[in-house]
Amino acid sequence: MQDWQQILAASFRDASALLEYLDIDARHALPDDHPALTFPVLVPVTLANQMQRGDINDPLLRQVLPIHSEGELPDMPGFSLDPLGEQDTNVCKGIIHKYHGRVLLLTATTCAINCRYCFRRHFDYKDNRLSRKQRLEALSYIAADNSISEVILSGGDPLMLSDETIAELVSGIEKISHVRRIRIHSRLPVVIPQRLTQKLQDILSQSNCQTSLVLHTNHGNELTPEHKERLLNLRNSGVTLLNQSVLLKGVNDDLSILTELSEKLFTMGVLPYYLHLADKVIGAHHFVVSDTEAAALYLQVRERLPGYLVPQLVREIPGEPYKQPYPVMA
Ligand SMILES: *Cc1c(COP(=O)(O)O)cnc(C)c1O
Ligand code: SF4
Repeated sequence: MQDWQQILAASFRDASALLEYLDIDARHALPDDHPALTFPVLVPVTLANQMQRGDINDPLLRQVLPIHSEGELPDMPGFSLDPLGEQDTNVCKGIIHKYHGRVLLLTATTCAINCRYCFRRHFDYKDNRLSRKQRLEALSYIAADNSISEVILSGGDPLMLSDETIAELVSGIEKISHVRRIRIHSRLPVVIPQRLTQKLQDILSQSNCQTSLVLHTNHGNELTPEHKERLLNLRNSGVTLLNQSVLLKGVNDDLSILTELSEKLFTMGVLPYYLHLADKVIGAHHFVVSDTEAAALYLQVRERLPGYLVPQLVREIPGEPYKQPYPVMA
């Protein structure tokens, strides 16, 4: 069996090869050499295998296929390069300290998949790539502020790091006595479930901090029996499993898709956490669900599911102290 690094290395790196694999006419995507494609196509085979052959409207394909040249170009009114103003909260190299008690540690600069809706697609990751020395400086920043009780490994995708590097990071964080929780936000195990290795499970389950993994799944079709087996093992080893999704037009802006996603996650030991309204990032306008549509859909989801299977619908507003619930409850 291939390990996750081998699967990753065999990923599709242009739209034409992916479409050919799926028996879809390549004219449905931007040409591979289109000048607007500053954010390259990257899709693991494991995810492509979950797409419906011949279906240009497949919800998994839609997340990764560059289709609108105007959407890929950086001049859409109301859309910005850094919609969350994160470049300003970059207090120390590799750290985003925006919310009370929690810091994001940007550990890896790449992902296993390039999602067209990504709000960080224009973020200057190269500039945030951490050397070992800078990792130690970031840990010193956390050690110097005893209001920080949770460290969130973010990216890029933190699970792009090797298990050895993750073990080093976790042990560095554990030495800081005021940090009680370590959280990993990742889409990698969703698109390549083999990333949930026994070694990773051991690192997380044996930590003296409480550990959690927040998966980024948008559609139930992304989840397979392979996910179920590995996620249940991880959960049973003591790691809290949560999921966050982005509400995306043409992908999951539908009552039965959202309810099935929550129910399927629960069979795998994962609780829904957040449903994000899509950020207005250049290149992603065709994914935006209007506020009114989102609110109406969300109320239907609440009607349909037990409370613990309803993710919180939120949006990030630059400068606000937490993600803002929507619709605002009186
Ligand atoms: C989402 C986010 C967090 C974590 O917020 P929670 O509500 O604790 O999940 C922390 N920092 C940043 C910059 C975030 O975007
Ligand atoms: S950060 Fe998340 S949404 Fe953005 S490209 Fe990577 S996996 Fe996709």
